[in-house]
Amino acid sequence: MSTKRDYYEILGVAKNATEVEIKKAYRQMAIKFHPDKNPGNKEAEDKFKEAAEAYEVLSNAEKKARYDRFGHQGMGGAGGGQSHMNMDDIFSNFGDIFGEGHPFESFFGGNSGGRGGRRQKVGSSIRIKVELTLQEIATGVEKKLKVKKQVACNSCNGSGAKDSSSVKTCTTCNGSGAVRKVQQSFLGQIATTTTCPTCNGDGTTVVNKCGSCHGTGKTIGEEIVTIKIPAGVGDGMQMTVSGKGNAAERGGIPGDLIVQFEEKPDASLKRDGNNVLYECYISFPDAVTGLSVEIPTVDGKAKIPIKAGTQPGEILRLRGKGIPVLNGYGRGDQLVHINIWTPQKLSSEEKAMIEKLKSSENFKPKPTNQRGFFEKIKEFFS
Ligand SMILES: [Zn+2]
Ligand SMILES: [Zn+2]
Repeated sequence: MSTKRDYYEILGVAKNATEVEIKKAYRQMAIKFHPDKNPGNKEAEDKFKEAAEAYEVLSNAEKKARYDRFGHQGMGGAGGGQSHMNMDDIFSNFGDIFGEGHPFESFFGGNSGGRGGRRQKVGSSIRIKVELTLQEIATGVEKKLKVKKQVACNSCNGSGAKDSSSVKTCTTCNGSGAVRKVQQSFLGQIATTTTCPTCNGDGTTVVNKCGSCHGTGKTIGEEIVTIKIPAGVGDGMQMTVSGKGNAAERGGIPGDLIVQFEEKPDASLKRDGNNVLYECYISFPDAVTGLSVEIPTVDGKAKIPIKAGTQPGEILRLRGKGIPVLNGYGRGDQLVHINIWTPQKLSSEEKAMIEKLKSSENFKPKPTNQRGFFEKIKEFFS
């Protein structure tokens, strides 16, 4: 494999190009290097594929972010793995680029993609939700998901046929899966190929169907899918695991599994972006004398010192004890908001002691350099 060109360079856009600019650039490339406009031109076809691959990454916020950080190397591995696109993938994205009823639609035999020739069917995608604790979000986690879905039929190996002699070459298209026709278009007169209506592009027809799946090649089953969830994900974000969705009819390409994350509320910690907030309650005598207090963090328990004379409303910052930045460096902080607990009932003995303290000079409020609560909050989040 030769060295890959930069995706931005391929599309001829700046690194900070907007979604709209990227889409527009790709659209122009797709029209210019379209195989129907450049029949038999290998170079144009390569350019066409290259542009499609670049667009596939740059049009997806998650993939784009990874590419921006890690370059082509970041595109391999879990969830990424997009080194080569085939023509079917490229054409199946065209509805998105050119809109429904786009000018190329007729060339590809309808919205199902596949520009003439034999094409594989694609299974449908499955969406599932996964609940994550704050701790799992902070560290990243590997999850084994039991996915109920359509799987390839065991009896016929996904072929849909009773036996191998039950599969016959389609007589309409002679097995090519496509039929040719000439039509007028804004590009001039073009001979195009469309999907064969008899075999739906398979190139074959099944004479005797498999009894288990009634010829569909798929049955209901389940699969354990292991996914690696990176640290720092948020509620509502999703991850696509390609090829782990429903099986396609008659041995086509399986759809995708789309995993959406849900953040399980934590009993004591509250997430605010990459920071974690904690309400800490201490007693009035402890605020006076100071103490060391054990508090929960996303990494487990931590002991923090509280100075003698701490005022209610103070916010202590535990640097780097928050949530890691998704696909980036660094972590947020944990902010500990100090509350001082005022007793709501007293024994007569306690009451007597408190009464005694009332007249003491040190117990009279002497606020100095008082910043309001809102200034403090502003300071901490700046
Ligand atoms: Zn056919
Ligand atoms: Zn079957």
